Amino acid sequence: MIKQISIKTSSRIEMVDITSKVEEVVRDSGIKEGICYIYVPHTTAGITINEGADPSVVKDINQTLRKLVPPDAGYSHLEGNADSHIKTTIVGPNTFVFIEGGRLQLGTWQSIFFCEFDGPRSRKALIKIIPDRI
Ligand code: ZN
Repeated sequence: MIKQISIKTSSRIEMVDITSKVEEVVRDSGIKEGICYIYVPHTTAGITINEGADPSVVKDINQTLRKLVPPDAGYSHLEGNADSHIKTTIVGPNTFVFIEGGRLQLGTWQSIFFCEFDGPRSRKALIKIIPDRI
């Protein structure tokens, strides 16, 4: 079964920490051992895992992505959001985390970030938890 997380973003480019929402889905599933897959079904938003403790890391990531992929660089895509599509491809649409003892096995400083590249919008992330075979 697939569970859905709703995310409301508030600016064009934004990394939203969704770790606690994912943890809630894992808790509600009752699954103690397995894999938690997270998939973002959008073409201008993605997902990544990185440091959540120091907000300057997220700031640096977004500033660097902006330098690598400027908003206006003579793209072919006429919708005006080519940079959003390219940033999404760099970040990717999915990630996973192992589950042990009912808990996500994230590192001490790791958080799961929904990456908005063309907000603000109402977005979603899909979660599927696969339990270990007994
Ligand atoms: Zn587009």
